[in-house]
Amino acid sequence: MVTEALFAGLSLGELGQEAASCARCQLAASRTNVVFGAGRAGAEIMLVGEGPGRDEDLSGQPFVGRSGRLLDQLVAQEMGLARGDVYIANVVKCRPPANRNPLPAEVDACRPFLERQVELVSPLLLVTLGNFATRLLLGTEAPIGTLRGRLSSYRGTPLIPTYHPAAALRGGGEVVAKMRADLARASSALVRLRRGEEASRGG
Ligand code: URA
Repeated sequence: MVTEALFAGLSLGELGQEAASCARCQLAASRTNVVFGAGRAGAEIMLVGEGPGRDEDLSGQPFVGRSGRLLDQLVAQEMGLARGDVYIANVVKCRPPANRNPLPAEVDACRPFLERQVELVSPLLLVTLGNFATRLLLGTEAPIGTLRGRLSSYRGTPLIPTYHPAAALRGGGEVVAKMRADLARASSALVRLRRGEEASRGG
């Protein structure tokens, strides 16, 4: 695709600048800020959510509202990682009005940004949060309930899907417990992946 070729040479900073002026879909008209992502290239874990909500649209930062606070807490408790240790991005970078689901055309328009972000961050492990990110990166229509907690891969990068934290806020203890279990699995997978990295470097 032409856009992917256009993004191919861009650094993470340049890609963020490109996103900041993006008008590839109708969400550009109603957004306050583009929420490109947060974290550093080379983070071991990349979390992928659905799209910005109100707090994120206002601040320009991903997962800063209630869902984000729960996510931070679960990632800290189950993986021992802080916000600064991970890279966080979304499937769509602009808030869908009234927090509706992103439309297929919006997901398609934004997809090259996420694909290039994954290339540039080059994480050891991807963790997708909810149906949108999981279905997009795994190219499946299967529901999150059947995919969660299982090790899959996206273009050679290991990937573990889990619920979206908003589903955990709505669903309560049972969903939170499943999310905890998935993140604990992600943490174990990360330990194994780090060992593999060291072995391949001869360490
Ligand atoms: N929900 C998401 O999927 N992403 C955010 O950044 C915030 C809430």
